[in-house]
Amino acid sequence: MSGLLGNLRIPHRKNTASMPAVKLNPTGDILLPMSQHIGAPATPVVKAGDSVKVGQKIAEANGPVSSPIYASVSGKVLKIEPYLRPNGQTVDAIRIAPDGEMTPAEEIVPPEIVDMESFLLAIRESGIVGLGGAGFPASVKLAAQKNGKIDTVILNGSECEPYITSDTRAMIDGAEWIYKGVLLLKQHLGIEKYIIGVEDNKPECIRKMKEVFASAEGVEVVTLPSKYPQGAEKVIIYNTTKRVVPEGKLPADVGVLVVNVSSVLTLAQYIETGMPLVSRVVTVDGDAIKNPQNVEVPIGTSAQELIAFCGGFVNEEDVGKVLYGGPMMGACLATLAEPVLKTTGAILAFTKKTSKMQEPTACIHCGRCVSACPLDLDPTTFSAALAYGDKEQRVQILQDAHIGLCMECGCCSYVCPAKRPLVQNNRLGKAEVRDYLAHQATLKK
Ligand code: SF4
Ligand code: SF4
Repeated sequence: MSGLLGNLRIPHRKNTASMPAVKLNPTGDILLPMSQHIGAPATPVVKAGDSVKVGQKIAEANGPVSSPIYASVSGKVLKIEPYLRPNGQTVDAIRIAPDGEMTPAEEIVPPEIVDMESFLLAIRESGIVGLGGAGFPASVKLAAQKNGKIDTVILNGSECEPYITSDTRAMIDGAEWIYKGVLLLKQHLGIEKYIIGVEDNKPECIRKMKEVFASAEGVEVVTLPSKYPQGAEKVIIYNTTKRVVPEGKLPADVGVLVVNVSSVLTLAQYIETGMPLVSRVVTVDGDAIKNPQNVEVPIGTSAQELIAFCGGFVNEEDVGKVLYGGPMMGACLATLAEPVLKTTGAILAFTKKTSKMQEPTACIHCGRCVSACPLDLDPTTFSAALAYGDKEQRVQILQDAHIGLCMECGCCSYVCPAKRPLVQNNRLGKAEVRDYLAHQATLKK
């Protein structure tokens, strides 16, 4: 696990780091898909024609691993329509026409918390999921402490993807909320040790975190080298605690919880005000954007409206790619009508020249992809396995090579001189193993 330190120096391009978020009050339709989290999609509890207010529950969590959805604007529900997710799954989405008033719902009151159980229930009702991009419902993650095996919480403030600065601004502008969030976790989960991991390219965040936690017991601010993928869960756990999360296991299995700094901030705001997760800060940047900035935006606002708010494109004819998330792990937007989701930390737009993919050539067996992998995996084996005709054999090779560990960080693709689509192949391989195992499980029933 020597590579777990993370060893890729990539350009940071944190162009918006000094820009506090500005608020956008949308005028266009809001689209709220029922799946913005890991787990079962939520179930709508409103219908076309209903009036809604900010913070009103419009979809109920559906199962133990799920999350409710709240109206992010006041207005009228236009319809419930199908929404195609980037992973090919179709879910319901609620379309709302905003009235421009942003009237808060009457039922917004701080939750009553008396013990760990009511705290976890409140977090579930908050609609908070991993805001760093993972989308894991916060209540499910924190519930791991029910068996009392967690001894350390890591607040992930690494934000190692280029361009994105929404967590950076959370640590600078919302430091007091993060402080309150840690106190709440201490009080209700009984975990005493907290590590705030921040990369050394964010000196202002480190200063602010050290200042606000100066007299807090059991809280350590750890400066981490700016080496991608420092913010990946397994990497930050190893680099701050030297614990290794085995394949197929969770951080809780090694006594650790990792929570994003923005999630802790939102949690504290919810406990104090009762306003659930209805907005988030999104970094809008890239060389195709006229005025890059951080924007606090109601969830469900379209990428189109958000980009227009930032002055639009430099040249509409010259836009090559628009991404949800960073350039290393982000996903392409199929259309600008796509909404901001709970997990959208950035929307980046690049010119045709910047986003041009180079043609892959034959592998020259240089081994750079293996050296660059933080988990010591061999991406060439994954790619080679996909060429086997026999499915069972393919899956066996992929499993033997531990493809389940791949976190799709993109380091292998980034360093490959032959520009081979390694991370794309890894995704295909992981999907293949998942499908095969699911099929085997149904045969056994
Ligand atoms: S994408 Fe997977 S195989 Fe490639 S470097 Fe990251 S973890 Fe390793
Ligand atoms: S980095 Fe690219 S060229 Fe080098 S071994 Fe890996 S796949 Fe082959």
